Amino acid sequence: MNKRKNLSHKKSGNKRKRSENSFSKQQKNHGRGGPSKGKRSSDGANQRGQKGITAEVTCTRLTHDGKGIAQWEGKQVEVPHLLPGEKAEILITKRGRDVSGELKRVIASSKDRVEPPCPYFYECGGCQIQHMTNLAQGRFKQQTVNELMKPFVKPEPIMTMEHPYDYRNKSHTAFGMNQQRQIIGGMYAMNTHRIIPMDRCLIHDPKADEIVNTIKGMLKSFKVQPYNEDTGRGLLRHVLIKVGKVSGEIMVVLVTASSEFKGKNNFVKALRNEHPEITTILQNVNKRDTSMVLGEQEKVLFGKGTITDTLGGLEFEISAKSFYQINPVQTEKLYGKAIEMAELSGKETVIDAYCGIGTIGLIASKQAGNVIGVELNKDAVRDSIRNSKRNGVKNARFYQGDAGQFMVEMAARNEKADVVIMDPPRSGSDEAFLSSVVKLKPKKVVYVSCNPETQVRDLHYLEKNGYKVEAIQPVDMFPQTVHVETVAKLVKK
Ligand code: SAH
Repeated sequence: MNKRKNLSHKKSGNKRKRSENSFSKQQKNHGRGGPSKGKRSSDGANQRGQKGITAEVTCTRLTHDGKGIAQWEGKQVEVPHLLPGEKAEILITKRGRDVSGELKRVIASSKDRVEPPCPYFYECGGCQIQHMTNLAQGRFKQQTVNELMKPFVKPEPIMTMEHPYDYRNKSHTAFGMNQQRQIIGGMYAMNTHRIIPMDRCLIHDPKADEIVNTIKGMLKSFKVQPYNEDTGRGLLRHVLIKVGKVSGEIMVVLVTASSEFKGKNNFVKALRNEHPEITTILQNVNKRDTSMVLGEQEKVLFGKGTITDTLGGLEFEISAKSFYQINPVQTEKLYGKAIEMAELSGKETVIDAYCGIGTIGLIASKQAGNVIGVELNKDAVRDSIRNSKRNGVKNARFYQGDAGQFMVEMAARNEKADVVIMDPPRSGSDEAFLSSVVKLKPKKVVYVSCNPETQVRDLHYLEKNGYKVEAIQPVDMFPQTVHVETVAKLVKK
């Protein structure tokens, strides 16, 4: 549940069946949080009644998405929550040729295993590796990046986070009803739209969760019905909260299924009474049957409609729909490294592609001749322009558009750029963009990525076309999850 992008406060998939692990429930039934050490279950079925074969396996290594790999009858089985070196009893289910494994009982436990502090861990899926120590998480991410980047250069040691919880400055909570017709709010269970009622997500900002709980408690008395995806009835779909970790400013976005929100003034007043720390409240209208959280239409119900936060010594104004890195502590390390890799002398023309609200470009502007930012999301571009004014930056320009198209046009006009800093969404960049980078011939390309797999693809393209990867820095921006951020430095050969 990390990035990204654009309006992409995306839910984790469609209304598919849950694919993984009853381990959680099993544990709950055992009344403890750790791996089940209970008796061998002989029924050979999981909590969903899915029949399978019980087998004893030993895990040899991890997949890049943090699952344990074991061998069973000559086949490779991926088992979520199983760690290298562990011996365990698993339930094997087959679908066609595919075999999948579910952890039932750990027989010999790894020293890398810890009890996940979150009681919803095995059900939720937002985090995938809370069962690993911090050290093991870092080692796992380092190994993943090392393997992926083998064709290029040995990556630097990963920058980990000292306090790897409470870090998210953005949270979204889904609302609905349980079978007793009580209002519930929480995260979706893995691969479904089934809400797991929860009061606290350990990677969220604690204040954000407090506010969500207050809202949950207010809905009944204000006669605000949660939206029902199946019947299309009800009003409140989600609550999105953004917190300025340094400024303390807080934005609450009430995502509703229709624009009509009866009693909204009283609702807003009551919420502000409970939480005077809230600095702005918005209503976002999402009428579509979609897995995107936010819709187009937006109304400011209180405050200025944006929050401001400080990052890298500058102030940034952030809209509801603009992308802003979710872990500001690690973002400062990431940006610091990216700007260091750009080796700016004060004269260069720097392109900040996929620039969001302009953070990287504006922070780099002090060390650059001039900065050109390009970004697709209109609200983010508006924020970037405001942000350059707010910080008195005179040498930066921001443009709205597709980064690939923008670069093609720059190359066609024979314009010049010394350094390209790029930070595309998870899908990576595209050929239009990369081929134009090659035409523009910047001396350096600094590639920030939240998905090393697509980054590897793009690095291969750049290496084939005149660039050399000189350094790679992994940064743990998303502790407890399998995601890892990387920044690569490329120089013109
Ligand atoms: N560099 C910024 C944003 C990175 S997230 C930061 O560090 O905060 C990636 C950004 O790419 C998002 O803001 C998203 O809106 C934008 N984006 C996605 N597709 C794009 C495209 N085709 N052209 C330009 N920007 C795009």
